[in-house]
Amino acid sequence: MTAPASAGVKASVVPGHPGDATGGDAVAPPVFASLVGQAHAIPIWRAIVADAARARRGEVAPGFTHAWLITGPPGSGRSTAALALAAALTCPAGGCARCPVCEAILTRRDPDVEIMSPVGTTQRVADTRHLIARAASAPVAHPWRLVILEDADRLNDAAANALLRTLEEPTARTLWILCAPSAQDVLATLRSRCRTIALRTPATEAVAELLSGQAAFSQHPPVSAEVAQFAARAAMGHVGRARALALDEGERQRRQAVMRIPEVIGDLGEAMTAAAALISSCTEAAAELGDQAEAAERSAILTAHGATADARPRERTRAQRSASAQLKEVTRRGKDRRRRLLTDRLDRALLELTSFYRDVLVMHLGEPVALVNPEQRPAIERLAAASDLATCQRWLDDLARARWALTTNAAPQLTVEALLVQLSNRG
Ligand SMILES: [Zn+2]
Repeated sequence: MTAPASAGVKASVVPGHPGDATGGDAVAPPVFASLVGQAHAIPIWRAIVADAARARRGEVAPGFTHAWLITGPPGSGRSTAALALAAALTCPAGGCARCPVCEAILTRRDPDVEIMSPVGTTQRVADTRHLIARAASAPVAHPWRLVILEDADRLNDAAANALLRTLEEPTARTLWILCAPSAQDVLATLRSRCRTIALRTPATEAVAELLSGQAAFSQHPPVSAEVAQFAARAAMGHVGRARALALDEGERQRRQAVMRIPEVIGDLGEAMTAAAALISSCTEAAAELGDQAEAAERSAILTAHGATADARPRERTRAQRSASAQLKEVTRRGKDRRRRLLTDRLDRALLELTSFYRDVLVMHLGEPVALVNPEQRPAIERLAAASDLATCQRWLDDLARARWALTTNAAPQLTVEALLVQLSNRG
């Protein structure tokens, strides 16, 4: 089990949702309020904002630096934290979350804040070089230009080295915010140039509170306490996943189909059928998301080339022609993106399966800790009765190996087939 987010934080710190509190020493700037279960970071945000104000006035600011690295497990809010930090550094009030500066940055529309996230499984060195070149130009409206690099762990060595040279000789008015699952995922020389801020896996209770609308900053209709509890537990600390499970019936159904797999793979044939079904549902979902992203990119490019919604056919044709190189690049990146989306979705499915087999292991051990999937207790008990502890441990090893294989270039279909065949072996 994950320790509560407030563990180790002194009692005066407001746990959970600092933005809800008013006054007091330990309140984070409002712009950080949407971070769930990160109370331990409040003093860090406060110190950074205070030092940024000093730096803006040209005073000595020991806590200020030109490069930050925000780490945290997937779904802990790295990107949200990066945007909030960018706003806090730029907003005249230190991150009020209300002014036009905060609003433009939080909605990713500020020209001085550049956000780069690799669409494929790795960040290409050419894209990184372009980014570095753009980052060096002077800010338009703010004291500094900010560059947010999501998934800095996906930089390949060449890209990381190009970035390292930039961080070694920083431009005075450019600030970098890198995000990665952990500091170890980033090249050691690169992370030594950054100040690291570590986010934690949010506690189930904090996520459930967010979903049930008890947090003032929830940006969606609140769901019932029961659904909020289920989604928070099933998402295992991944805030975005919890939100999707709480709000999207389709996501809940897809998860249910995955969680039925352990019961339906009694023999080889059933394992192969289940693998085919899982691959095809993940491929469909990845294609749908990929198509949406690609369509949005195409339309943005065509608009930039003059093909606005009310453009005449001749203007459209002209825009198509002048944008053709960029549109080709969109198609190329689209393939990378679909592959990444597919492996991401498969990985999520395998993580969910892992939670089921972990519950079987918990059952074998006499339930010293709570189940992740209590609603599946009968199925978990049946599988525990039909297996022994060693087999259960082997299943968990198989799952871990398959998830690792997906992060390399292993063929997704073969990986999933081999895994489900292994899991169908109860002996
Ligand atoms: Zn503001």
